Amino acid sequence: MTRDLPYGPDDLLWVTNQATLLMGEKDAVLVDTYVTIEQNQQLIDWVRSFGRRLTHVYVTHGHGDHLFGLAQIAEAFPGVRAVGTDATVATAKVQTGADLVGSFWERLFPGQIPAELAVPEPLGDDHLELEGQRLDIVETGFTDTAGSTVVWVPELRLIVGGDVVYNDAHPYLSESTAATRREWATTLDRLGELDPAVVVAAHKNPERADDPRIVAETAAYLREFDLLDADTATAEELYGAMLERYPRRINPGSLWGAAQRAKQRP
Ligand SMILES: [Zn+2]
Repeated sequence: MTRDLPYGPDDLLWVTNQATLLMGEKDAVLVDTYVTIEQNQQLIDWVRSFGRRLTHVYVTHGHGDHLFGLAQIAEAFPGVRAVGTDATVATAKVQTGADLVGSFWERLFPGQIPAELAVPEPLGDDHLELEGQRLDIVETGFTDTAGSTVVWVPELRLIVGGDVVYNDAHPYLSESTAATRREWATTLDRLGELDPAVVVAAHKNPERADDPRIVAETAAYLREFDLLDADTATAEELYGAMLERYPRRINPGSLWGAAQRAKQRP
């Protein structure tokens, strides 16, 4: 995913997506999908390779890059249910609308967005079950968008973190404000108290492990962004100051968008 960017190392101009498959003996639950037709086909082949019955796809939040594969997956796995919280369903309706797909997603991925897009149905519960194990849905409030969630699997001490945590990738802050970033950082402190053993971010540097330290790292990044925002006058200065602090995080385009947004004068 490339975005508007003033300067910086070219090899970092992309973002990876990570989906998670939770497996029992016979059944499986997928958390989030990918963006493009080809990526989602690869995801389907990967899920098939484990020979489980896919019962649910849980969508962590309503951004298109987490749910554009739902229609393809529904076709590939008959009987699968795509679910999310009410807030996810509401955002997903906007993200899959012709306006946003045409003006945003199709521009980034011309000809690659699935023609048929689906919206998850409301889960209407605070957890899913996989062969008797609880998969708890934790509502995290406003993170990179309104009404985000993570999945907490107590048995594994696992957080499937969606876009609540980022792993060595610049977070998407363009929808956030200083107030929502404070809320986000506090939520991360709370998730840290669960004492997870594994934390999977939807956007990560593939060279990195799914290490629980990313919870505190993401909180520190958000607090630093606001401190440096107060210390700088222009988007270029804020961008430069953050890059000095985080020179090798992937997807600096996201930081550039955040810096521009933070310095926007009404
Ligand atoms: Zn997102």
